[in-house]
Amino acid sequence: MKVLVVNCGSSSVKYTLFEMGNEKKIAWGLIECIGLPEAFYKRETVKSQERKESVKVANHTEAVELIINELLDKNKGIISDVSEIAAVGHRIVHGGDKFSKSVLITEKVKEQLKECFSIAPLHTPAHYAGIVAVEKMLHGIPSVLVFDTAFHQTMPDYAYMYALPYEFYEKDHIRRYGFHGTSHNYVSQRAAVLLNQPLSDLKLITAHLGNGSSITAIENGKVIDTSMGFTPLQGVVMGTRCGDIDPAIIAYLIDQYPEYKDGKTLNDLMNKKSGLTGVSGLSADMRDILKAISEGNKKAQLAFNMLVYSIKKYISAYYGVLNDADALIFTAGIGENSAPVREAVCKNLNALGIELDAEKNKERSSEERFISTNNSKVKIIIIPTNEELMIARESRRVIGNNE
Ligand code: AMP
Repeated sequence: MKVLVVNCGSSSVKYTLFEMGNEKKIAWGLIECIGLPEAFYKRETVKSQERKESVKVANHTEAVELIINELLDKNKGIISDVSEIAAVGHRIVHGGDKFSKSVLITEKVKEQLKECFSIAPLHTPAHYAGIVAVEKMLHGIPSVLVFDTAFHQTMPDYAYMYALPYEFYEKDHIRRYGFHGTSHNYVSQRAAVLLNQPLSDLKLITAHLGNGSSITAIENGKVIDTSMGFTPLQGVVMGTRCGDIDPAIIAYLIDQYPEYKDGKTLNDLMNKKSGLTGVSGLSADMRDILKAISEGNKKAQLAFNMLVYSIKKYISAYYGVLNDADALIFTAGIGENSAPVREAVCKNLNALGIELDAEKNKERSSEERFISTNNSKVKIIIIPTNEELMIARESRRVIGNNE
């Protein structure tokens, strides 16, 4: 049984085709710069090496056509008929409060998704375009929507509400939603396997640290709280996002700077020009920040310290909220690869029973691994995330085929 996972951005389509028997990916790639004079197409299969070329792709429909036709190609393809694809799983960034779990696409679901356009205007219309394109090319094959926000829908109201006048929640659905849910869900399931305990018995803190980062407190497999909020801007310091700031700063900027008069410019400032980039003036990439620190760059050091401190605060808060923790899990680009960040985050958390083994932490590997000391009460685990596989599993589950 094969499942195709599709992730449509505003100008990109990313895909992975899984053979679900062994859960291995058999074809994957992406098309970027859709709608621009030159688009880029990169793809690979288990049978053929990576190929890249520039192509002309006007919209998502043409992108999906290109991808499916190549999957079917007699020489370079990997399937001989589209009917080999049992389901398509679409990654959806924001399901608002309409979707608390993955769903099979129906006309009604498509209408409900349209109602989510305003809450994630950069993402949801692109997802919708991808859904329509896939339906056209793969007519009759069931499609499933898997939401980044759904895993977090178990949060209690006192955790997801903002203390604004209640009418903004009722009218505008302003509340904490949380993101990276598919990743937090995946690593929590893997943690249960690695700890050899049912998820229903565990208290976990999962740290998804990438270009965007979020921390989540999970008890008995259910999210209790998560650091991202109404949008992915809230929470820890990130590559280009400021994370938590005093909201009155926004009012101050509006009053003081004529250029910050509308949501777009303010959103650009806080989402694209802040975080590691904004403080260091150098880069959003942790590798560049670490290199600059080794060369004595003070602003890079400050940016690093701020990012680490903000992560430490969330971990400590969630330890308190959970009233204990069985494991702290690191995942995503920084979480999986940056030993200095993990070391700095775990430093002086021994009062909580979090003790990192410095040597294990430094070992390079792309495997799942424990990096806590033997005596650490809270196990520290690196678990490479696999959002695509999680979407494929969810799609298989939703169409009711668990073979
Ligand atoms: P992601 O959003 O999960 O793809 O993570 C991307 C980020 O991970 C990059 O911007 C880097 O900051 C970080 N990253 C990736 N590899 C490394 C590495 N070897 N050391 C430090 N940071 C890394």
